[in-house]
Amino acid sequence: MTQPIYLVGARGCGKTTVGVALAQALGFNFVDTDHYLLTTTEMSVADIVAQEGWDGFRRRESGALQSVTAPDTVIATGGGMVLAESNRQFMREHGVVIYLRAPAQILASRLEAFPEEGQRPTLTGRPITDEIVEVLAAREALYNQAAHHVVDATRSPEDIVAAVLAALHTAHA
Ligand code: ADP
Ligand code: MG
Repeated sequence: MTQPIYLVGARGCGKTTVGVALAQALGFNFVDTDHYLLTTTEMSVADIVAQEGWDGFRRRESGALQSVTAPDTVIATGGGMVLAESNRQFMREHGVVIYLRAPAQILASRLEAFPEEGQRPTLTGRPITDEIVEVLAAREALYNQAAHHVVDATRSPEDIVAAVLAALHTAHA
C-alpha cells in the first residue's frame, strides 16, 4: 500500500506523536499540515489568524492538505481540517483516513501538561477544558464522517500505532 494515510482528530489526540511513529513503522515520510504551513508561510498559526482571520487560515490549510498529499506519506492534519466538506472528501478520495479518538478530558489533561504545545489561539477565549468539550462535540461527527477507521487514542502511542497497522492490514487484506 502506498496511498497516503491521513490522521484526523482534535488537538492533543496524538496525530503528531503517533504519525511520526507510524511513518517509521511503515517506512513512509511524515508531514504535518500545521508544520507545513509554518515553514511555507514563515508565520505561526496565531500570526495567520491575526492577519487573515480563521477564514484565511482555513483556506491556507486546504491548500496545505493538497500540497502535502503524496504516496508513502503519513499526514497529520490540523484539528479543524475536517470542517470543510471538500477537505473530508479530498482525504477520503486520496488515501486512508484514520480518526484518533480520545475523550475531551484526556485531550485537556495532555494539553494542560504541555501548555507550550497549545500555542494556537483558543477559538472562544474561555478555559481550555470547556473549549475542548465544546469543540469536540461540534466536530466529533465530522471526524467520524471523514474516517475510514476510528482508533482508540487513549492508549500508549505504541499500542495506537499497532491498532492503526491492524486496521490498514484488515482493510487491504
Ligand atoms: P496532536 O498532534 O494531535 O495535537 P500531539 O501528538 O502533539 O497531538 O500530542 C499532544 C500531547 O499529548 C503531547 O505532549 C504528546 O506527548 C502527548 N501524547 C500524544 N499521544 C499520547 C498518548 N497516546 N498517550 C499519552 N500522551 C500522549
Ligand atoms: Mg500535531
